[in-house]
This record gives sequence, C-alpha cells and structure tokens, in this order.
Amino acid sequence: MQKYTVAIFGSGIVGAFIFDSLVLNGVKCVLIEKGEDVCLGASKANSGIIHAGYDCEKDTLKAKFNVRGNQLYPDIAKRLGERIGSCGSLVVGDKNSLPKLNELLERGIYNGVKNLQILNRSQLLKLEKNLNQDIEYGLYAKDAKIISPYHFTISLVEESLINGGKLKLNFITTSIQKLNDKFIISNGKESFESSYIINACGAGVNEIGSLIGEDIIPLTFTKGEYILLDKSEMGLVSRPIFPLPTEKGKGILACPTISGNTFFGPTAVDINKYDTSVSYSSLNVIKSSVTKMISNINFKKTIKLYAGVRVKKGKDFYINFDNKNKNYIVITGISSPGLSAAPAIAEFVVNKLIENGLKTNKIEFKQRIPYTNILTLNEDELSSLIRLNKDYGEIICNCEKITKGEIIEVLKRTPFILTTDGVKRRLRTTMGHCQGSFCYPKLIKLMSEFYQVPEEQINFKGTKSLIVGDIKEGGIYGKHN
Ligand SMILES: Cc1cc2nc3c(=O)[nH]c(=O)nc-3n(C[C@H](O)[C@H](O)[C@H](O)COP(=O)(O)OP(=O)(O)OC[C@H]3O[C@@H](n4cnc5c(N)ncnc54)[C@H](O)[C@@H]3O)c2cc1C
Repeated sequence: MQKYTVAIFGSGIVGAFIFDSLVLNGVKCVLIEKGEDVCLGASKANSGIIHAGYDCEKDTLKAKFNVRGNQLYPDIAKRLGERIGSCGSLVVGDKNSLPKLNELLERGIYNGVKNLQILNRSQLLKLEKNLNQDIEYGLYAKDAKIISPYHFTISLVEESLINGGKLKLNFITTSIQKLNDKFIISNGKESFESSYIINACGAGVNEIGSLIGEDIIPLTFTKGEYILLDKSEMGLVSRPIFPLPTEKGKGILACPTISGNTFFGPTAVDINKYDTSVSYSSLNVIKSSVTKMISNINFKKTIKLYAGVRVKKGKDFYINFDNKNKNYIVITGISSPGLSAAPAIAEFVVNKLIENGLKTNKIEFKQRIPYTNILTLNEDELSSLIRLNKDYGEIICNCEKITKGEIIEVLKRTPFILTTDGVKRRLRTTMGHCQGSFCYPKLIKLMSEFYQVPEEQINFKGTKSLIVGDIKEGGIYGKHN
C-alpha cells in the first residue's frame, strides 16, 4: 500500500498552495480531487483579484491572511512564471461617499494595508477615463493585483508534481479508516495510507468529514454571476472598480482580466445548494449596478455569462486543527478574499504542522517552465520556433491565436487526459469572441489524434461529450433560468 505523510483533499487554490508548500518542504504528499481535473470549485470562477485587505473586518482571519497573502503573491508568481497585474483597485462613490471611504481607509490602515489614498474626481479621471459623472471620490489601493485564479492553481499543482507530489483525480473517497494512528483512504478500488489529512474541499468538506465520524459543518452558499465582454472592449477599465461595500459584500464591480477581457459582477444571491446557473434577472441587476459607476459600456460585446459559488461558514474563514480525529485538519468557509489569502493560509497551516512535529526535508528544487505563448515572442523567436516545429505555425484557436504546437505541448505535459475545458483553462482555447464555434472541431480532432481515442470520447468537462448528448446540458452555454 502507498504511504504518504499528508493527504490533502480538494485541489482549489487553498489545497494547491498547501500541497505546493508541503512538497517544497520535502513532505511526502498526495493531492486528492474528486473531479477530472484540478481546480473545479470556487477557485475557477471568481473575480481573480488579490485584494489589498482594507475591507475585511478588523481582527479576523480574513484580514490577517488577506494582507499577508497579498505580500506573498508576487514572488510566488515569479517563481511559477504566472502573470500578475499590479494595477491597484478603486472603491468609488458619489458626493456623499467620503465618510464611508474614510472608514475603509481607517480599517485598511488598522489591518496593516499600505499605499491607500483617497482621491478626488480629477485624480480619479487620470486613472480611469470612463467613470460615471456622479463619481466624486475614490479609495485607491495601490497594492491590489489581478491574476488568473485557475491558471495560478494549475501552475501550483504542476510545480508540486515536478517536485515529487502525487495527484489523484476522479478519486471518489468511499471510506477512511483509522489504523494505528494512520488514515487508510479508499475509493473502493485503490487504498493508501496517510499520517495526516487536510480537508480543503470547500463545499465538499462534509463528504470527507462524515467518513471519519466528524460532525457536519453547517455551510451556506452565495452565488456570484458575471457578464464577460470581448477583448475588443479592453481599456474600458484598467483596474478593479468597486462601489461602496454593503452588508452583502464588496458589491458588483467592473474589472479587467489578466488576459484583457472586461467583466462585471459578481451578484450575491443566497442559494440552498451549489448551483452555477445564471438568471436573467441577475443580468439586469449587474447592468444597472455597474452603469452607476462606469459609462460607455457596450453590453452587445458580451461573450459569456458564468457564475461561481462562495462557500461560507459564518463570517470568517474556518481553519480547525482541533477535531475529533487527531492529525485531521479542516479548512472551509473560504469565501472572499480566499484567493488573496490562500498563500498565507498555506503558510500558517504548514508552519503549525511543523511546530507540532511534522518532519521536513531539503529537496532539489525543480523550476516549472511556463507554457509557450507565441504572442509573447518576437518575429525572430517565432520564426525559429516554427522552423524547429511547424506545429507552432498552425493556428487552432483563431480568436486567441493558439497554435497546434502550444496545445500539444500542454497535452504532453499533463499526466492525465484533459477535457477541452482543461485545455481552455491552461491556454485560453475557445475563450475568445467565437467561444469555440470555430475551434472546437479542430481542437477535438487534435485531442482525439493525440490521445488516440474516438472524437466522441473527448469530453467538454466531466463525462459530457461535445459530440453526443445534449451539449447545452454539458454547459457550453451554461444553464439559464
Ligand atoms: C463569485 C466569487 C468571486 C470571488 N472573488 C474573489 C476575489 O476576487 N478575490 C479573492 O480573494 N477571493 C475571491 N473569491 C473567493 C475565492 O474564490 C475562494 O475563497 C477560493 O477559491 C476558495 O478556494 P478553496 O480551495 O477553499 O475551494 P475550491 O476552489 O472550491 O476548491 C475545492 C476543491 O475540492 C474539490 N472537492 C470537493 N469535494 C471533494 C471530495 N469529496 N473529494 C475530493 N475533492 C473534493 C472540488 O472539486 C474543488 O476542486 C470569490 C468567490 C466567488 C464565488
């Protein structure tokens, strides 16, 4: 039976940071994910903002880990070869907004956030030209950043795998037994042993906890829906722009993605169960909210609607080392700003494990090589690449300019069969204006040849084929109600 020191459940941004940190500390680790790929929960559909930390309630885990996480991101991004946009963020309001903005400023300073500044309209217009005429004041947080949250998570897992970590996908845990202080984890076909369990399953936390007799952790869910615009609208806004926060949260923002799209959202709709459908009424809420802050929006350039689900356990993050089972650690309720906080949560958890006796070892670090991106190459570099391998001269995704060579490189690098959604999240295939209408057939053909399986076995996501069955149900257009 395989023996690990730590088994981490859940490959969202939190599980991935903990996995990476433990692997780089020489700890024998396995990352267990029930889905067919990594990062299939909240970490794949969020705003991608590394918040500065001014709006977290004082003296909370959220405040502490957000501010520290924000500081940790740039060096980790550099190591992984991940793009990070140091654009800062704005909270804007009308002529009556100053008291609320000052409150945020004061809270930010208390939380340890640096580089905060209140700006007047003329200063704001130098940063953002499309602010609505009613906007008079803003809080500028220079340290806020943007990333691609799913790409970052995938890169963390890749770095861990090349440095000795193990990954189990499609692993539906059916039993966990305690034997001589070790956990025996099984899916009915395969079993392995681990000294520690870290449960970072987000919404699925109780699926694992209940298998080892832990009490059910009550969770609540809040859906956040988005409108995404085509890249032709690039430059509408240059950084995340928030309205004044309310009881419900940070509000509906306008934001650029790291790849140059613009999005609006998220809504905050309380729901009873995990559900990522987008409702028509929410689209109107998004439109009316965002036009109060931003002018000149061309909603006709919408290319996609999508939603993510915030998982909450009360108002703060839930990180518990003191459970019924010794060496069983639970991390859940990581709602916003969990993306920002994730490296600091991992730092805290790993340091605490080490303090409590977890042994670490020196490793010979292997650097992750970023994927080739022909758009970053100059003409000479691209020509020599194509001379070496003509696949880098054959475009598969025309909107995003992604070549056969780049796709094959990713398929070769990933030690498991990818879905078209998996390729999309690594390379942006099908993410452009046509949303896959033109490139899906070419992508499926390429993947079918590479994996040597019939085209109908190339899935969109999960077990949903793009060729047989109801593609809408598969989620290309999302479910609408
Ligand atoms: C709409 C929205 C906007 C947000 N915007 C921001 C933002 O801009 N900035 C920010 O800092 N934060 C933001 N957040 C919060 C952030 O997305 C989350 O805090 C973060 O993604 C949580 O990560 P996680 O790893 O805890 O959970 P998840 O990403 O949900 O990962 C859990 C993983 O566990 C897997 N899993 C579940 N059950 C099991 C099981 N039984 N066995 C194995 N695996 C299992 C799931 O498939 C999933 O891959 C936002 C959240 C939402 C929903």
